Amino acid sequence: MLTVFQPQDYRFPETVSELLEILSQQGEHARVIAGGTTIHELAYRKGMGDVRTLLDITRLPLGRITPTDTGLRVGATVTFTDLASYIAATHPRQLAVITDAIAGIRPMQIRNVGTVGGSICSSLPFFDLPAALVALDATVTTTRLDGDSRTLPIETFFWDFFLPDLRFGELFTEVEFALPPAGSGGAFQKFESNSVDWALVSIGVQVRCREDHFTEVRIALGGGIGRKIARASTVERALVGKPVTTEVIQDAVRGVVDDVRAFSDFRGSAEFRNHLLKVYITRCLVQAARRAR
Ligand SMILES: Cc1cc2nc3c(=O)[nH]c(=O)nc-3n(C[C@H](O)[C@H](O)[C@H](O)COP(=O)(O)OP(=O)(O)OC[C@H]3O[C@@H](n4cnc5c(N)ncnc54)[C@H](O)[C@@H]3O)c2cc1C
Repeated sequence: MLTVFQPQDYRFPETVSELLEILSQQGEHARVIAGGTTIHELAYRKGMGDVRTLLDITRLPLGRITPTDTGLRVGATVTFTDLASYIAATHPRQLAVITDAIAGIRPMQIRNVGTVGGSICSSLPFFDLPAALVALDATVTTTRLDGDSRTLPIETFFWDFFLPDLRFGELFTEVEFALPPAGSGGAFQKFESNSVDWALVSIGVQVRCREDHFTEVRIALGGGIGRKIARASTVERALVGKPVTTEVIQDAVRGVVDDVRAFSDFRGSAEFRNHLLKVYITRCLVQAARRAR
């Protein structure tokens, strides 16, 4: 018999404090829900544990995009569609790594209801936006009932599948990143074996170039290559200071095998994944460097 997950209670807390109060009282029996697209999958796969109460945060004031002195602050419940529209209207060139990533999120219904916070707090390397945000060196902020809030690099926020660095009773509130300076460019690309499966590799790249040389490079590796998003640090180091040429990029990208240990499964062999990594990092670097001009 098919048993469907049925929460005993579905609430719309009116304030963040009310939400945090319930979270700290109910612990593992309560779960935040935003767009509900990961929750839906978890429920279907019997992954909701002993959750009895769902706390819908979409009516809380967490859906704003705020310009800061250096960049943007994006609230937890901002949807993919709203973020992409905002960037398209304000910083399309500077933040292309984000709009590339969102454009690849399918179907459109997921872009319309899926939220930035849900994408990050799912802590799955297969999701697209987090890799773009790691490339941008974003920070995330959480809050809890005693008023304590933490701000940490997004790169350190992912511990394992479905295991973000969220402590007991904590709520993720926003992600923030600086606008890349002049001479910067970004790109995101992914490879899926079919249109309904998770990405085998997904790459977010952000570079800065001066006089046709790389001066800053950040490469985030997501998809099915590990349990969390990794950095291609060996490739990054090999590129800084070097001229922007396809030969230099291809040579540096070979070092990615020192950054991640690709594995084999029914979706593809480790060898195939390593090949994809090299191809897609190269493509992203070429595109990002072109955009940096
Ligand atoms: C059919 C389908 C196709 C998809 N395709 C893609 C794709 O192409 N690319 C891609 O990247 N993703 C894809 N996804 C995944 C989708 O992007 C994520 O499911 C979505 O980003 C999650 O956001 P949400 O608001 O729906 O999260 P929810 O399901 O509401 O929440 C996800 C998790 O985060 C927690 N959470 C949410 N917000 C907070 C918060 N503020 N503080 C603390 N915890 C929080 C929830 O408790 C839950 O554990 C797809 C999903 C489906 C179902």
